[in-house]
Amino acid sequence: MQTVSEVKIYKNFIDNEWVDSESHETIKSINPAQKNEVVGYLQKSTKQDLEKAVQSAHKAKKSWRKLGQAARGQLLFKAANLIEENLDDIAETMTREMGKTLPEAKGETARGVAILRYYAGEGMRKNGDVIPSSDQDALMFTKRVPLGVVGIITPWNFPVAIPIWKIAPALVYGNTVVFKPATEAAVTAAKVVECFVKAGIPEGVLNFITGSGSVIGQALIDHPLLNGISFTGSETVGEQVAASAAARGIKYQLEMGGKNPVIVTKDADLDAAVEAVISGSFRSTGQKCTATSRVIVETEVYDQFKEKLIQATENITVGDGLKEGIWMGPCASESQFNTVKRYIEQGKQEGASLIYGGEQLTGGDYDNGFYIIPTIFDEVTPDMVIAQEEIFGPVICLMKAANLDEAIEIANYTKYGLSASIFTSNIGSLLEFIDEIDAGLVRINAESAGVELQAPFGGMKASSTGSREQGEAAKEFYTSIKTIFIKG
Ligand code: NAD
Repeated sequence: MQTVSEVKIYKNFIDNEWVDSESHETIKSINPAQKNEVVGYLQKSTKQDLEKAVQSAHKAKKSWRKLGQAARGQLLFKAANLIEENLDDIAETMTREMGKTLPEAKGETARGVAILRYYAGEGMRKNGDVIPSSDQDALMFTKRVPLGVVGIITPWNFPVAIPIWKIAPALVYGNTVVFKPATEAAVTAAKVVECFVKAGIPEGVLNFITGSGSVIGQALIDHPLLNGISFTGSETVGEQVAASAAARGIKYQLEMGGKNPVIVTKDADLDAAVEAVISGSFRSTGQKCTATSRVIVETEVYDQFKEKLIQATENITVGDGLKEGIWMGPCASESQFNTVKRYIEQGKQEGASLIYGGEQLTGGDYDNGFYIIPTIFDEVTPDMVIAQEEIFGPVICLMKAANLDEAIEIANYTKYGLSASIFTSNIGSLLEFIDEIDAGLVRINAESAGVELQAPFGGMKASSTGSREQGEAAKEFYTSIKTIFIKG
C-alpha cells in the first residue's frame, strides 16, 4: 500500500525556481491501470501564481532574444541529451500516468528527443531573406523576430511529444514560455521541464505551472502580457482560446479533434488495410487526435474486410502497459473511460450493430483500472452521433459505401478534417482521394496516425486553426517578419 509520503510532490517552475503554489494545495495524478496508485502530486496553482509565471517570462524576453538563435539552439541540444539520458524514467512515468504501453511511451520520448534536435539545428539556419530593391543604393531584407511571451497549453495524450513540439520552436526562435500541461499527465511534463532546467535554461525563459484548466489555463489565455498562444486539446476549450486571443489581436494556433476516416476500396490489399486500421484505431487506446475512428469499405469487400478485422481484434492483449506482452492499455482517466462507455451506449441506442467488445473489462487486475475491450460497431450510418463526434477511445465505426465517390462523401461528412487515409491499388482512386478529401494529413496505404516530425502537422475545418505545427511550418507561428530597408 502506497503512503502519501512515498509520493513526490512536483512544484511549479517560475522565475528560475521550483516553487509551491500560494494555495498550498495539490492535485493528484493517478495511474489509470492501478487507480489506487498516485503517480505524483502537483501544485493546484492560483491566478497569483500564474501572474508570477507570466511576469517572469515577460521579464526574460529581451535577454533571451538577444542571446541569439545559435546559442539558443545549443541549449536545446543539451536538453535533448538530458531527455535521452532519462528516457527510461520519463517513458515509465508516462505509462504509469496515462496508460500507454511502455514501448509506445519509449517511442514517444525518443521522438521528443528527435524533435528537440531538429529545432536545435534551427539555431544554425537562416532567419530571413535578402530581397532585391529597385533602389541600387539600398539593402532590403527580412528578419524573423520572436513574438515575445508564448502560452503553451497541452493535452494529456502525448505528454512528451506535444509539449516539446511547441516549446522547442518557441524557444529556438527566441520566445519565452509559460507552459501549462494537462493535469492527467503533468508529472511526465514536469520531468521533461527538469531536463530543460538542468540544461541551463536562463532565468524566466521557461515557466511551468500546473492546475485547473478553467482557472489558470483561462487566466493564461486572457493575460494581457501574452503575445501568442499555442493550444492542443478539445474543441470546446479551443473556441475559448480563439475568442480570447482574437479579442486582443494576438496570434494563436489551435490543434483540436478529429474523426479520422480510412477508406478501403475493392482493389485494396485487405491484410495491409486491417493491420493499419487496428494500429490506427487501438494504439494508445484510440486516444490520438489522428486515431482512425471511421472505416468506410466498398461493398464488394465489406464482409471479407470485417471478418479479417474481427480476427485481428481478437488478438489484442489489453492490460497494464508496464507489463510485457500488453498491446493496449487502459483509458487515460476515469472521465475518458466514462466518455467512451457513454458513446458505446449511444451507438447501441441509435441502432449501430455491436459486433465486437462494447464493454469494460472486469475481474482481477482489470477492476483496478479503466479498461475497455476494443470495440467495433457495424452498420454505422453517417448521421449517427458515433459517426460524427470524436470518441477518443478504442471504438471503430464500420461503414459501407457503394463506390469511391460515396466513400469520400461519407468521409467528408463531419465537421473535422485532421487525418484521412485510403487503402487502394488504383492510382486513379488515390489521386481522386488526394484532391477530394477534407484533411490536412492525407495518407495513402498507411494508417491515419503517424506523421513525421519534419513535416507540417495540422488539419482542416474544425480540427485546426492557425499555422501548422512541426517542421519548418512552426516558424510561421513562432515568429513575425520585419522587412528592413537600409538606404546607403
Ligand atoms: P482539454 O481541452 O480538456 O484540455 C487541454 C488543455 O487545456 C489542458 O491542459 C487543460 O487543462 C486546458 N484547459 C481546460 N480548460 C481550459 C480553459 N478554459 N482555458 C485554458 N485552458 C484550459 O483536452 P484533453 O482532454 O486534455 O485532450 C483531448 C483532446 O485533445 C481531444 O479532443 C483531442 O482530439 C485533442 N488533441 C488534438 C491534437 C491535435 O494535434 N489535433 C493532439 C492531441 C489531442
